[in-house]
Amino acid sequence: MKRTSVVICSFLVVLLGAAALAQAPSSQIDAHLLTAKTAAGQDYRATFVNLCLPSAPRGGGAGRGAGGRGGGAPQTPDRANWYAPPFKVFDNLYWLGTRQHSSWALQTSAGIIIIDTNFAWATRPEIIEGLTKLGLNPADIKYVIISHAHGDHDQGAAELQERYSAQVVMGAPDWEATLKRPATAAGGVPTRDIAVGPEGRKLTLGDTTVEIVATPGHTPGTLSYVFPVKDQGRAVMVAYSGGTLTGAFGTDGARWDEYIASQRRIAKVAADAGATVMLSNHSEYDGAYTKARLLSAPRQPGENHPFIVGTDGVQRYFTVMAECAMASKLRVGAK
Ligand SMILES: [Zn+2]
Repeated sequence: MKRTSVVICSFLVVLLGAAALAQAPSSQIDAHLLTAKTAAGQDYRATFVNLCLPSAPRGGGAGRGAGGRGGGAPQTPDRANWYAPPFKVFDNLYWLGTRQHSSWALQTSAGIIIIDTNFAWATRPEIIEGLTKLGLNPADIKYVIISHAHGDHDQGAAELQERYSAQVVMGAPDWEATLKRPATAAGGVPTRDIAVGPEGRKLTLGDTTVEIVATPGHTPGTLSYVFPVKDQGRAVMVAYSGGTLTGAFGTDGARWDEYIASQRRIAKVAADAGATVMLSNHSEYDGAYTKARLLSAPRQPGENHPFIVGTDGVQRYFTVMAECAMASKLRVGAK
């Protein structure tokens, strides 16, 4: 009996030890989830939910093969489900998005920089006609910067390049993927212009410089930005997050680590620049459509601009991204 008890006790110790080991990752996951949820607060709930609490695979495209989605969604969906009018958001920054995806026009003293396009079917109604409605001239577009080569952000690039001789800027690996698309891809295939490597670069047009930061992860060539705009004459810095979802990373530990490092890199550049405005390319994540509409309501003297979330608000966004990635990496058992 004694010997049996010892065996049972030893067995229990082994079992408890195994349970403790199995629980260690889950408590670590919970710690990352709590940090992310606290950082998200009320401002970034959808970003937290989509990144930290994955459900069914989404159509948003976190696939490694940037550019592969360029051929998708050629038909125009029902306009009633996506059309949004353009809005002037800052003195020199204009929102040209659909209700789901954002495209921006940054006006400088020497022309316009378009930041992200959209699906091909949105190029004319949202970007070209949007600029015209706002009193701007699409022929002034000098650069089109693409955050990453997925169809919901880049299908308009080729048309803007052809019509206005705009130069297209993209991460070098995303150019490689884009140039492999068939000529029949929705929106066509842009000609290679400016490729940004892992070191990033500054892009200056007239009086405005956009700092382009390589933030690989969502795609190998994802780019994020920091740039200045003016709010009623006052300079404010914008941080722009170029790629979000991690749903297709699987157990590729290096890819998770690359994404996490990218969030830290852009968070530091944003902090060093004193960025107080946080933009993404999906309204779901930064509330762009709702915030843009808010601007048409009267603003009290001294009332903050709806897009200004403060330096803490910008940092919290990148904390959500990094912490959710750390939780998800543990959850899928990536090494
Ligand atoms: Zn994407």
